[in-house]
Amino acid sequence: MLKVAISVPLSREFDYLPPADTPVPDPGSRVRVPFGSRRRVGVVIGHATESSLPPDKIRRSLEVLDDEPLLSGNELWLIRFTSDYYHHPIGEVVAAALPAILRQGKALHPVVETVTTTALAGATDIEALARRAPKQAELLEMLLDAGGDGVEADELTESLPNWRRAAKSLFEKGLITRHEARAPAFDETLAPDAEPGPDLNDEQQAAIDTLRVSDSFGAFLIEGVTGSGKTEVYLHRMRDVIAQGKQVLVLVPEIGLTPQLVTRLRRRLGIEPALLHSGLTDNQRLAAWRAARSGAARLVVGTRSAIFTPLKRPGLIIVDEEHDHSFKQQEGLRYSARDLAIARAKHLDIPVVLGTATPTLEMLQHCRDGRYTHIELPNRAGGARPPVFRIVDTARTPATDGLSEPLLAAIREHLDADGQVLVFLNRRGFAPTLICSGCGHVAECRRCDARLTVHAGKRELRCHHCGAVRPLDSRCEECGEAVRPLGEGTQRLEDALRQHFPERRITRVDSDSTQRKGAMIDVLDQAREGEAEILVGTQMLSKGHHFPKLSLVGIVNADQGLFSTDFRSAERMAQSIVQVAGRAGRVSASGEVLIQTGFPDHPFWSTLIAGGYNQVAAEALAEREVTRWPPFTRLALIRSAAHRQADAHAFLDLARQSLEAQCGDMMRVLGPVDAPMARRAGRYRAQLLLQSSDRRTLHDALRALRPVLEEAPVARKVRWSIDVDPVELF
Ligand code: ADP
Ligand code: ZN
Repeated sequence: MLKVAISVPLSREFDYLPPADTPVPDPGSRVRVPFGSRRRVGVVIGHATESSLPPDKIRRSLEVLDDEPLLSGNELWLIRFTSDYYHHPIGEVVAAALPAILRQGKALHPVVETVTTTALAGATDIEALARRAPKQAELLEMLLDAGGDGVEADELTESLPNWRRAAKSLFEKGLITRHEARAPAFDETLAPDAEPGPDLNDEQQAAIDTLRVSDSFGAFLIEGVTGSGKTEVYLHRMRDVIAQGKQVLVLVPEIGLTPQLVTRLRRRLGIEPALLHSGLTDNQRLAAWRAARSGAARLVVGTRSAIFTPLKRPGLIIVDEEHDHSFKQQEGLRYSARDLAIARAKHLDIPVVLGTATPTLEMLQHCRDGRYTHIELPNRAGGARPPVFRIVDTARTPATDGLSEPLLAAIREHLDADGQVLVFLNRRGFAPTLICSGCGHVAECRRCDARLTVHAGKRELRCHHCGAVRPLDSRCEECGEAVRPLGEGTQRLEDALRQHFPERRITRVDSDSTQRKGAMIDVLDQAREGEAEILVGTQMLSKGHHFPKLSLVGIVNADQGLFSTDFRSAERMAQSIVQVAGRAGRVSASGEVLIQTGFPDHPFWSTLIAGGYNQVAAEALAEREVTRWPPFTRLALIRSAAHRQADAHAFLDLARQSLEAQCGDMMRVLGPVDAPMARRAGRYRAQLLLQSSDRRTLHDALRALRPVLEEAPVARKVRWSIDVDPVELF
């Protein structure tokens, strides 16, 4: 009998008989099975001799979809581990681990249909065609834009759902053709020859010596200030492992934000990396996945979900920017790719290297416990000096549109000295609030407990939580008086900077300004070449980029986290400031960092400035030990959301009762309480926090709880989730 994982929100495996007249499929193979009245694709995750179902209820699978297992024992182990650790249905974990094409039951080497234009197409009068047949014109234009390689049929279906009708006419006119072919194999020879790098300095040499001690499991945390040469150290270690004929998996926060890293790996190793990220077509993603699985790709670079990529000969896993929150998936299967990387490396008995300038307290504590090896690179490589911090008291020198006199003076000075300036504000839009000057009414989202953000360009009010948009009215909806934007976002800051520095080239970088595909890369190129003299932006600017000319960083509103109740606020604030500060003065002169705050005497500042991230982290760890927050205890958060507040709470009341009956006082159960944003996108949200100093206790409780919740009648009225090791407590 087969144990089959099927993508449904139930924590169980399903029993099926193998299809008639075929060999029993090995675990890791896909099968098509009847499920209710439909057919589903599942993955065999084991064989069994017994079932809880009576024999006449066990159905036969219809078909085996793979000649050999898609997933090896190691990959199945990771899937099972993920399902157990995050208390998430195994079928959904399998679905997260497989590329879409394989989930749909198609072949590992599917035939790909592509459409291209013929030589005739170039001469077509598109405007005339658009008047007669707009669909055809649209399709033809898209294909012409794509050039010689054409466009995959699947992609066309996504952007022009009914494209086949238009294609038929274009085909009859001889303007387009279609091909079917197996997707080309991954080609590693595309990469240029490996380029030499700098000689390692003594600290880097010591780091690489430590990493080279063993090829078996070990977790290494490289804590190195920005520009300390961490990447050089990874590169040396990667080269060793690749020379042994093994594969390296590199996880990065967001590939779109780190094109420089990918280029550098390719050039320096002389290897074409297989890339796995959200910007790929399904076929491209599958091609990279296949190359990793077959071993054809020796270097695999990807974002969060790449942690599930099968590897034929795994040798090393690297997690760059370990502290970055994008490694944690915040919906559905709420996993941490960093934590899974460590678990996977341990299971495979290979090393895992975590690098960052601002390690999370969890990783630091593992180092203190002696479980992980701490490697420090406290100095910048190549002799660059660290930036100098300066506090600007906005109570004494108030900021107008976000800019105080001292900050403006510093910007002027740095620009005059031919430096580049980065102004950082982690809030996009024009202003975070629209307020009425008559009655004080504040514009709020109708579906969320949240204020609407003013977006000036399109004259809109937008909710950054549910995406609702409405036109910006100049009169108050309550009393009809004039409204005005309050506070500032990056757009307003950009406007203000343009007024102060009309002759300077200013570029804004946030998720609004970089929506167009490739926009981020263009902006970064401009910034690197020094073409943009002033950069204004959100934390998108703080991730991994090298700006050689950057000499001043201005942090506009640093106070958001000072009085937060989140136990992680000091850690996060220090991470975000140190990361953005790290962009300054990377190569030649030492840079300057100006921090505007209304609370210059807050102890956070003196700790950060005198002791750096290290000191903030040490103090925060001491505090967490006393207050019993992670990493000294373990957390899980159960969330629920429903159209009626009472349902959201009733569901969690049930969870609470069940937990109390089970574990008594071995575990703290806090709540249910309303979520910090109690209503979002029209649903009321509540949460229950579970805390225990013993990981086992917590997991045993969740394991027993999950089936109770799945079967509870009230569960049908709520959306709920279990979040193990949550990073956001709301
Ligand atoms: P990190 O990853 O810690 O930010 P990088 O490895 O990117 O640091 O190095 C920062 C810069 O310093 C890069 O331009 C790199 O080429 C240079 N660099 C790194 N190591 C050395 C070295 N030993 N000697 C000279 N330059 C170096
Ligand atoms: Zn909203």
